[in-house]
Amino acid sequence: MQTTFNTSASSAAPAILSHVPGYPRIGAARELKFALESHWRGEIDETALQAVGRQLRARHWEEQQLAGLDLVSVGDFAYYDQVASLIQLLGCEPARYGFSPAQSELSRYFRMARGASHPAAAHGTPAPPANCEHSQCQHGRHDAGLASSAALEMSKWFDTNYHYLVPEFSEYTEFALASSRLFDEVAEAQALGHSVKAVLLGPLSFLWLGKVRGEQHFERLELLERLLPVYGALLSRLKRQGVSWVQIDEPILGLDLPPAWRNAFETAYWQLNQAGAQLLLATYFSPLEENLSLACRLPVAGLHVDGVRAAHELTSIADWLPLHKVLSVGIVDGRNIWRCDLDAALAILQPLLAKRQGKLWLSTSCSLLHVPYTLAAEHQLDPEVRPWLAFAHEKLAELAVLKQALQGAAYPAALATSRAALASRAHSLHLHRPDLRARLAALPAHADQRQSPFAKRQQVQQARLQLPAFPTTTIGSFQQTGAIRAARAAFKRGELDQAGYAERMRAEIADAVQRQEALGLDVLVHGEAERNDMVEYFGEQLEGFLFSRHGWVQSYGSRCVKPPIIYGDVRRPQAMTVDWSVYTQSLTDKPVKGMLTGPVTILQWSFVREDQPRQETARQLALAIRDEVADLQQAGIAIIQIDEPAVREGLPLRRSRWDAYLDWATRAFRIAAGAASDATQIHSHICYAEFNEILPQIAAMDADVITIETSRSDAELLQALRRFPYPNEIGPGVYDIHSPRVPAQEEMVRLLQRAATVVPAAHLWVNPDCGLKTRGWAETESALRNMVAAARQLRAGL
Ligand code: GLN
Ligand code: ZN
Repeated sequence: MQTTFNTSASSAAPAILSHVPGYPRIGAARELKFALESHWRGEIDETALQAVGRQLRARHWEEQQLAGLDLVSVGDFAYYDQVASLIQLLGCEPARYGFSPAQSELSRYFRMARGASHPAAAHGTPAPPANCEHSQCQHGRHDAGLASSAALEMSKWFDTNYHYLVPEFSEYTEFALASSRLFDEVAEAQALGHSVKAVLLGPLSFLWLGKVRGEQHFERLELLERLLPVYGALLSRLKRQGVSWVQIDEPILGLDLPPAWRNAFETAYWQLNQAGAQLLLATYFSPLEENLSLACRLPVAGLHVDGVRAAHELTSIADWLPLHKVLSVGIVDGRNIWRCDLDAALAILQPLLAKRQGKLWLSTSCSLLHVPYTLAAEHQLDPEVRPWLAFAHEKLAELAVLKQALQGAAYPAALATSRAALASRAHSLHLHRPDLRARLAALPAHADQRQSPFAKRQQVQQARLQLPAFPTTTIGSFQQTGAIRAARAAFKRGELDQAGYAERMRAEIADAVQRQEALGLDVLVHGEAERNDMVEYFGEQLEGFLFSRHGWVQSYGSRCVKPPIIYGDVRRPQAMTVDWSVYTQSLTDKPVKGMLTGPVTILQWSFVREDQPRQETARQLALAIRDEVADLQQAGIAIIQIDEPAVREGLPLRRSRWDAYLDWATRAFRIAAGAASDATQIHSHICYAEFNEILPQIAAMDADVITIETSRSDAELLQALRRFPYPNEIGPGVYDIHSPRVPAQEEMVRLLQRAATVVPAAHLWVNPDCGLKTRGWAETESALRNMVAAARQLRAGL
């Protein structure tokens, strides 16, 4: 192991280098997405797909090089997911797939990533979406046991909206270097003349992110011993290839780790050190806290830290990290799309540079996977706001400027541009809408409280709504048919006028109402035909939001999302949903639920301004939704659902910060709901099974009814409900909407009977576990018919 600092830079020049922990890979025009999907449809073969991959890598390396980065990242590319690639590289494809040597690496890869549960998938057509198609509503993939056909489970990558494929381990898992993909890519970059930094997820994070299947009592950390020699071999091979640096990512150093995991770091890295490659240990997304001295101590050649989220730790890290090691400071935000305040960055970097005796690496806080490519094609953006932004490409340029400035170059013109942009932003009226701020300031402290406690509201609502026991309802959306999408696209292109579009949507609503009445559902919905996406739909109608045209960010596999940008104070200029709800209610005597997206979910699925705390923006959103609640109520709508599927995913990575988040997040919801009188029933819908541990905080939202995803594990939910008796009404999803399977009446009856052992029967609702946007009407109607029958059977048994 070289313990001395040694790079290709000449020893006379100040050793300031720039690099990024990773770059997006889907392509600025989503080339990879389209190539993947056409490959899955059987239109292009593996060679053609690989050619697209090669082109994209070459382009992305070139962008890094042209921007002046000293090292390009290799290994951040993946055809589906970087963790899935690593599973292959380390030779631990789960045995349940029973792969044969005849199957190509890529075909095995896509089988793990996408499964083959759908007969069509085997024939090259895409499997049905494993996830809810609400563009960001990413449920965990439902576990179809250990079938050879089931895809790997998908899970959120730390607190981002990216989803990785979960490695599966058992006590029999063996590892071996089993793929040459990474080495080939390194050779590819070298052949193009680049200075390569290989990028690789570290062994502890890899194990941590995986899951043990089957054996209950096996601890996956025990696999470390078997895994390390393979990592060692991998690093030696990279070194032999002439790779000067290997960035080894251990983002779990920013989590609350059990002692055994913390302790494992030291031995693991002592062992990896033997391979002789220069390791840059990379952490991101979270401060190191109690792992700080550990991270500084590990025998690696350098440490990368998130200079945005762990800014307060930079000084101690600069002090603690031995001087012969490289400190890489992720000073440019890799998680957001705002232009970097270069002066502020320099003010942080200068003293660090001094402490580090002139040796410092500059970087983005984390991989740029989480931001869109470039502003270059965003011509339609408000010219006032555009200069405030920086996507991946622009962030590379920021690093170059910072490096020049630190090297003592005369302040480049770029700094002046940056200052002008920041000044314009600071003084913009978009950011400060005094009327809105005055309203928020005047909001009484009890604005987040309903008039009466739940027990009283329940009586008032029951008197008004007269619902039967075990009332039935759905979560909101029905199938987004091709015709609906086509009508919306025509409307957006201006080929269909407002009146024509509204007429089409009303026809869809009328159809949905008719079907729901025929099914005998008790509380109806309008079906959300007019919504492209549950956040975008509201963002488009609110002030303070901005939409890029090509600002795609990979969510999983070929799937991308285009998060709205909240750049200014949020204000609702007019009612957003009232006409649709009023129209729907006019068609039926059954109560119709008004359907809104909650403030926390809007926040969570957008790029949010960082010039004020997130909770401030949440309050503004809450006020906008509150006004909508008031208008719906005024228009006679008796039930209003405020969806908060993302409330769980906003949880900070560190538990010590959960309470603060949950406090403001649940308050934002209550402010939104707080305009409802006792007689208006507020529902909320929440997805993800893993919210069981925050059930008390969900209760603190004080919705009259919550409908929740349960199908993945009703046992877990019931256990949680036993620990914490949920005080208000609750609809545990009785069937999984992610599967085309039509659930039998008896199954749902059994689930409800079990639920009735932990929830008073009078509090139980009967509903699917999420929206039905992705399900065809035929399946939906069969499933709902059985669901209504199940509810009736239970009523009869009362
Ligand atoms: N009301 C939304 C729907 O049914 C809720 C979606 C979600 O849970 N993400 O589509
Ligand atoms: Zn849902």
